[in-house]
Amino acid sequence: AGAAEPPPKLVLDLERLVQVPSEKAGPLQRYVATIQSQRGDYNGKVLSIRQDDLRTLAVIYDQSPSVLTEQLIGWGVLGADARRAVQTEEG
Ligand code: C2E
Ligand code: C2E
Ligand code: C2E
Repeated sequence: AGAAEPPPKLVLDLERLVQVPSEKAGPLQRYVATIQSQRGDYNGKVLSIRQDDLRTLAVIYDQSPSVLTEQLIGWGVLGADARRAVQTEEG
């Protein structure tokens, strides 16, 4: 990708996230709840998160950022354009 191209915004779909079984989504659900509490942002249908938070979540899930991103896209929690956020750094 071109160096001047900004990475896509990581926007989590919170309505989809609550539908994912908590055995899988529990750590992400707790992480999101923490960010909502820190921001005082409780009423959104979506939550924009930092690029750094995807790296932190990958450590929590013991996966590479690109594998975790594919999983979140598969759950419908992230849009397909989120792939570019990890491709720009790993690819
Ligand atoms: P902080 O990182 O010291 O940020 C202080 C304030 O700067 C934030 O208050 C927000 O108004 C603004 N800010 C910092 N970075 C950004 C950014 O990338 N985009 C936008 N739009 N604003 C930014 P806020 O939102 O009340 O958050 C308070 C604290 O909660 C933050 O302090 C940080 O420690 C934590 N936090 C909030 N959201 C996130 C997040 O998405 N990821 C992480 N890792 N921490 C977050
Ligand atoms: P955007 O970042 O593309 O967000 C589009 C809409 O998605 C927002 O419309 C809001 O309804 C929702 N949204 C996105 N991220 C979050 C989130 O973390 N929490 C919640 N509760 N909703 C979210 P909205 O609010 O009318 O904002 C329109 C545009 O204005 C945003 O486009 C963004 O470019 C800008 N904007 C709004 N608030 C902030 C802010 O606090 N900081 C920055 N840097 N830009 C903001
Ligand atoms: P955004 O507000 O449109 O910010 C886009 C990018 O600009 C951020 O990407 C970050 O690289 C930079 N940026 C914006 N404000 C600040 C700041 O106060 N301090 C620093 N060091 N950098 C800043 P990033 O980090 O990937 O965040 C993506 C989006 O996640 C932000 O888009 C915003 O919607 C949300 N976000 C991240 N952190 C916070 C936060 O602390 N509070 C709130 N309310 N929203 C946040």
